Amino acid sequence: MLPFFGDAFGNPSSIHSLGQEAKGAIEEARTKVAELIGARSEEIVFTSGGTEADNFALKGVAFANEHKGNHIITTPIEHHAVLEVCKFLEKRGFRITCLPVDKYGMVDPDDVKRAITAKTIIISVMHASNEVGTIEPVEEIGKIAQEAGVHFHSDAVQTVGHIPVNVDKLKVDLLSISGHKFNGPKGVGALYVRKGTKLVSLMHGGEHEKRRRAGTENVPGIVGLAKAAELAGQEIGKEAERLAYLRDKLIKGLGDKIDQIRLNGHPTKRLPNNVNVSIDFVEGESMLLNLDLEGICASTGSACSSSSLEPSHVLLALGLPPEQAHGSLRFTLGRDNTQADVERVLEVLPGIVAKLRAMSPLLKSSKFPSLA
Ligand code: PLP
Repeated sequence: MLPFFGDAFGNPSSIHSLGQEAKGAIEEARTKVAELIGARSEEIVFTSGGTEADNFALKGVAFANEHKGNHIITTPIEHHAVLEVCKFLEKRGFRITCLPVDKYGMVDPDDVKRAITAKTIIISVMHASNEVGTIEPVEEIGKIAQEAGVHFHSDAVQTVGHIPVNVDKLKVDLLSISGHKFNGPKGVGALYVRKGTKLVSLMHGGEHEKRRRAGTENVPGIVGLAKAAELAGQEIGKEAERLAYLRDKLIKGLGDKIDQIRLNGHPTKRLPNNVNVSIDFVEGESMLLNLDLEGICASTGSACSSSSLEPSHVLLALGLPPEQAHGSLRFTLGRDNTQADVERVLEVLPGIVAKLRAMSPLLKSSKFPSLA
């Protein structure tokens, strides 16, 4: 990325050689991102990240197909970048069906099939949950969407760069990508748009990105996104295996060392880097703050940490009572994490839980299923 902040500062829209050097870098980046997901380079539109990609996919298809229908199918566990767009579209006359999910957060493809009507214009189901890590049956849903002739979008922000993603295998027409989720820079991402898919643009102005997204391109960000894609492509299988091993070690260790704890999300069909547990009688944010003091960074679907008073909409959709949703803790493993990090969490967290429980007015004697 560095040369594009310095000597190679050209604007890709300029005809001079400095501009053309930047343009060349963008086109090379487009090819690399396309390769990671089995797409053609002209099917990649660079965006400011996953949020913009989700907005572009849903609003783009909705407004381009208003004459055909007004029905959108999605799930209650989507990221806010999808759910808030659906709420926005609902206020403008679109009808939204939010499918149920099971206790693991899994969507049933048959529910998708049943929800399709003659007015359905797009189905949006995420590839994997950013909160509970469950990997959705996107390939089956893609087949259903294809047979019904309905556009299919998948938010693959959590899977691209982590597990193999192939747009033809998944039968998606649109797929969202975010750079910072696979070691790339923040503030850059992409939307895969299958050739022939008509979208209304969100940004109007110049002719950038083949008139699909106006605005001078974030050249260093795009170059960084592509480098991350290239590295992820080289490491993908091996790294997923390494992380899944650490993930399972952490899940098992937590279950052995802490009672009244349960795993959220699917036990096997889950992202290799995601561990999400609910621990009874403790607040997620209290655990977070205590872990932070020990140099361990985690997150929670609970209140204050996310500056909202509501527990995670995803955990509630899985059927967790609010107390268990408030006691949730999520660890995301990355390329720098090692077995020593997992051991450190297992050494520190049981003591934190015991300390917090000793002070907890929530503690009762009831037993909850453990992770065993
Ligand atoms: N979709 C999912 C599943 C995510 O996890 C995120 C970010 O956390 C986004 C969309 C938004 O991506 P970005 O932060 O690049 O806007």
